[in-house]
Amino acid sequence: MPQSPKEAFQAEARALRLRLEDAGRRAKNASALEDLRLEFLGRRSGALSRLMAGLASLPAEDRPEAGRLVNALKADVEDALRKLEEGFRTVEKRPPAVDLTLPGLQRPAGCPHPVRVFLKQIEAIFVSLGFSVEEGPEVETDYYNFEALNFPLHHPARDDWDTLYLDGGLLLRTHTSPVQVRVMEKQKPPIRMINPGRVYRKETPDPTHLPMFYQVEGLLVDEGVTFAHLKGTLEYFLRRLFSEKLKIRFRPSFFPFTEPSAEVDIECLVCRGKDSACRVCAGTGWKEILGAGMVDPQVLKNVNIDPEKYSGWAFGMGIERMAMFAYQIPDMRPFYENDMRFIRQFRNK
Ligand SMILES: [Zn+2]
Repeated sequence: MPQSPKEAFQAEARALRLRLEDAGRRAKNASALEDLRLEFLGRRSGALSRLMAGLASLPAEDRPEAGRLVNALKADVEDALRKLEEGFRTVEKRPPAVDLTLPGLQRPAGCPHPVRVFLKQIEAIFVSLGFSVEEGPEVETDYYNFEALNFPLHHPARDDWDTLYLDGGLLLRTHTSPVQVRVMEKQKPPIRMINPGRVYRKETPDPTHLPMFYQVEGLLVDEGVTFAHLKGTLEYFLRRLFSEKLKIRFRPSFFPFTEPSAEVDIECLVCRGKDSACRVCAGTGWKEILGAGMVDPQVLKNVNIDPEKYSGWAFGMGIERMAMFAYQIPDMRPFYENDMRFIRQFRNK
């Protein structure tokens, strides 16, 4: 059945109302709102103006009702536009999505590892004395790690170095001493060098042992070098590192690559020898800190340096052990457990 003009008018009004609801949902900002206003309330081509124009084609008896319908629709359109406008205004007034009063995101600042801090201090002292800083490979041959340093294959002293052997006659260096040999092969005296680096031993980790740790090796070769130079240099170094009035003692010892050899003790910084129950020095008042000695003439011969003309001295020390003593850390293992609470304590050292 065809629609009467009244029914057609009512259908058009309903369609307009649906369009209004849909447009209201899609409007996202104030400029979309202005488009909506034109679309519905525009004087010439606005939807309501067109609907109003349709009134004239209705039979006279239907006009009052249709007129009320148009007015109600117009009121609804204006109402909807006002609500949308208010909504946008509150959105615009809302504080920015970033709340500047909240505490910021912390970006953790890194800090040097305590072993690195200690190494840098040691390097700085020796560099100030004219020593160079050398490096060498961590995977070594038996020759550089042992033979050239006067440990022939049969030598019982090899047992003191718990060595990790690799395939193909290679090993992980057990000390930094191979670098002495490598430097003396390349360089003729005078030689003054230190070399810091990682070394490896077949050890089970415990408070005073690790399978990997740092050593610093020192070597000086020149004409007329004596044990007095060694003693003077090490005393100067240890006093600059620890304290001006540090007590130091040299004890005779044995290493295959030095002759004579000494171990160097410094006074216990914790008890100064006054506590027989001191855990750091076991009540002795002394702490062994490094090994040293005059380079064995055979080692010089191995690298074609004439031991009749030249002499030299060398020393070696474990860095973690020194850092433990300096910072009074009772256990070596936390150095490599990557616990940030441990590492951060050294931020300002
Ligand atoms: Zn002590």
